[in-house]
Amino acid sequence: MGGTFDPIHHGHLVAASEVQSLFDLDEVVFVPTGEPWQKADKQVSPAEHRYLMTVVATASNPRFTVSRVDIDRKGPTFTSDTLRDLRAQRPDDELFFITGADALAQILSWKDVDELWGLAHFIGVTRPGYVLSESGLPQDNVTLQEVPAMAISSTDCRERVADGEPVWYLVPDGVVQYINKYELYTDPRE
Ligand code: ATP
Ligand code: MG
Repeated sequence: MGGTFDPIHHGHLVAASEVQSLFDLDEVVFVPTGEPWQKADKQVSPAEHRYLMTVVATASNPRFTVSRVDIDRKGPTFTSDTLRDLRAQRPDDELFFITGADALAQILSWKDVDELWGLAHFIGVTRPGYVLSESGLPQDNVTLQEVPAMAISSTDCRERVADGEPVWYLVPDGVVQYINKYELYTDPRE
C-alpha cells in the first residue's frame, strides 16, 4: 500500500485491513513515498518521520510491514520503480498495489504506465465523497473496492494539529504521541 502517510491515519489502516481480508493477502507492505511528485507543490514532512509513524501505526499487526524502498531511492517516487524494487526483493510473490481511488484515477499519467500492468494487480479503495470515473482503466488489472467509510484525511489531521484540535482516534495513539514529541504540523501550511 503506497501513500505519503503524512501522517498515517485509521482510514489507511482500515483500507489495508479490509483489502488484506477480502483478497486473503499474506502481508500488506506499507510503502511511504519518497518525494511524492503529485505533491511537489506542497510541503511534505521528512521521509524519516513519515516512515517511523507508519512503523508505529502498523507494529501491532502481524500482517502489516513497512518498506523503505521509496524513501531510500533518490528522486521522485514513481510506482513503476516501487513495484520493480518490491518484485526484486520478492521474486516469487504475487503483488497487489493498493491505493486510493483518487490516486487510481491519476494512474494513466504515471510514468511507464504500460509496464505497470505486468508488475501488479491494482486495487483502488474508495472513500466517502469521491466519485471515480472508471473510463480508460484496464479492467483486468484494476479492482475497485469499497472500504468502510472513514472520513479521515492526512490533510485534515495536519490542519487539526495546527489549529490545536485533537487527532486522538483519527490516528493511532502512538502516532498522536509521535506527532506531539516531534512537534509536527504545528505551523499552518498548505
Ligand atoms: P493527504 O490529505 O495529504 O492527501 P491522504 O489522507 O489522502 O493525505 P495519502 O497518504 O495521500 O493520505 O493516502 C494514500 C492513499 O490512501 C491515497 O490513495 C488515498 O486515497 C487513500 N486514503 C486516504 N484516506 C483514506 C480513507 N479515509 N479511506 C480510504 N482510502 C484513503
Ligand atoms: Mg490524498
